[in-house]
Amino acid sequence: MQVPQAVAYAVQQLNTAGFEAYPVGGCVRDLLRGLQPHDWDITTSATPDEMMAVFAGERLIPTGLQHGTVTLLKDGLPLEITTFRIDGAYADGRHPESVTFSRSLTEDLARRDFTVNAMALDLKNGVVDLFFGENDLQGKIIRCVGDPDKRFDEDALRVLRALRFSAVLGFTIEPETAAAIHRHKEHLQAVSAERITEEMTKLLCGKHVGNVLREFRDVLAFLVPEISPLIGFEQHSPYHIYDIFEHTVRALDAVKPEPCLRWAMLLHDIGKAKCFTLDKDGIGHFFGHASHSKRMAETILKRFRMSNKQAERILTLVKYHDLPIPPDEVLLAKRLNKFGQEILLQLLELQDADCAAQAPELTEARQAEHRQVRGMIAQLCGEGRCYSLRDLAISGDELLSLGVPAGPAVGKLLHELLNAVMENRVANEKTALLEQAKKMASL
Ligand code: ATP
Ligand code: MG
Repeated sequence: MQVPQAVAYAVQQLNTAGFEAYPVGGCVRDLLRGLQPHDWDITTSATPDEMMAVFAGERLIPTGLQHGTVTLLKDGLPLEITTFRIDGAYADGRHPESVTFSRSLTEDLARRDFTVNAMALDLKNGVVDLFFGENDLQGKIIRCVGDPDKRFDEDALRVLRALRFSAVLGFTIEPETAAAIHRHKEHLQAVSAERITEEMTKLLCGKHVGNVLREFRDVLAFLVPEISPLIGFEQHSPYHIYDIFEHTVRALDAVKPEPCLRWAMLLHDIGKAKCFTLDKDGIGHFFGHASHSKRMAETILKRFRMSNKQAERILTLVKYHDLPIPPDEVLLAKRLNKFGQEILLQLLELQDADCAAQAPELTEARQAEHRQVRGMIAQLCGEGRCYSLRDLAISGDELLSLGVPAGPAVGKLLHELLNAVMENRVANEKTALLEQAKKMASL
């Protein structure tokens, strides 16, 4: 198995100084799957002080000294080098109480979460696989190293990590591990929001997230109790052939695996059950559900301590997930003005996936219309067609020199001019706009 020069170099330097060193965990798993690892972890018998001595003069970042981790920057690759460890009891299920350094690779591999993550690569003698990880890799199985109940007791985040690896890799969770997950979900209570959110985002972006959420809906409902009323909620609508939960899961699978899109999809109908009404023909309606979902999503994302920037984007996507975006140039220019190109395109992604999870006879027509809309957006933006105040060929200062009184009148006039441009009533050129401004302000 090929490892980058920088990895071989780091291992060799440690070996020369008398220490053991091995690529370990995710990178070995990915190499065995024939994939290019996205980052490299090295485990070693050297303590952080000893590592610092071995790599003196090189670019070292003391990323987590108390956990035994030092990052070596070599050929532009960040290599995380960590001392062999035995994690102490995770008394509160949050953080290791104590980290004990070890001189034994066996102990270090035994503290790792799943068999497929517990392999090391000996660059001279091949894979060190003490827990039959290669077997599980072949069988596409996520299985705890050791007794699952004990492992989830030590650190409940592993409950969510199991789901994450299952969703990302498309592996099934071995029955005893799965049973222990159902039993331990409530221990997630003690895990910090930051750790949960990081895993949750990775889980949601997994290619196989749908099946995982179906099988472990109890875990999801523990983390997001607002999901519970959606499970089995029939929509009584010709547009909807699935209950709200099943619709959400299908829409999640269908949308691009980008964090804000996936979170928005998870939450887009979260308020729907509360907005349900049945008309005299027995058809279900959900008036105002997008705004209601947005309000609930706001509370949920605060609980997850989502960053403000991400939360803001997710909430915009939830609030406007059913906004009509028809192939109408004037309306599109206005939408571009309101949202900007990036968000408008994300709303289209969301709507494509949303309708892919509805009655199939509607999907094709809707998606064809969206293809047309995307073409029109590209054209509007490509032609530099004006869609925000910034792009307007006239400024507030120029209106002031025309004699428009300072104050709110300036902003109001700029918006009216922008509207006129978007509606093709005037060209986005300075002289034309100055003329139009004089007319509008009766100057
Ligand atoms: P990815 O490809 O997503 O980076 P990874 O396997 O490298 O996957 P990380 O979260 O980067 O996952 O963790 C690196 C390694 O550290 C894991 O492969 C596993 O061996 C170990 N590990 C990480 N978190 C835990 C945990 N909570 N409990 C036990 N072992 C863990
Ligand atoms: Mg990793």
